[in-house]
Formats: sequence, structure tokens, C-alpha cells
Amino acid sequence: MFNFTYKCRLCGETFSNSGTSSEQAAMDAVILATLDMDTDAKMTRVHACRPNGFGIADLIGAKFTPDK
Ligand SMILES: [Zn+2]
Repeated sequence: MFNFTYKCRLCGETFSNSGTSSEQAAMDAVILATLDMDTDAKMTRVHACRPNGFGIADLIGAKFTPDK
């Protein structure tokens, strides 16, 4: 699975909540995101840094994790 991975600017946490099993789709989504085009992978997301507020998280890539 290629997980679209984000890093929060406020708390520093790295997280993922979407992805794709297709390497080609993951690469396409990351490329389209950098070009500011419509894609599954947005360049930024809001992160709930519980209990310390809400941060802005940046897309840092599509990280491959083997299926379990
Ligand atoms: Zn955060």
C-alpha cells in the first residue's frame, strides 16, 4: 500500500489516512498534487493535534508499506 503521508507543522506528527495499492496511481497523485491539480492527495490537510489545537499538515509523499 502506498500511503499519502503528511507531517503536521504544529505538533510534528506524521500520519496517513488515505492511499492506493497502485504504484502508478500513487506517483500520479503526488505529481498532480505538486502541480496543484485535482488529486486524491491534497498538498495540505488539517491535523487535530489533541489536545493542543489544530495544525496544518503538509504532504511529504506516498510511503510504501507492505500489506499485512
Ligand atoms: Zn498536529
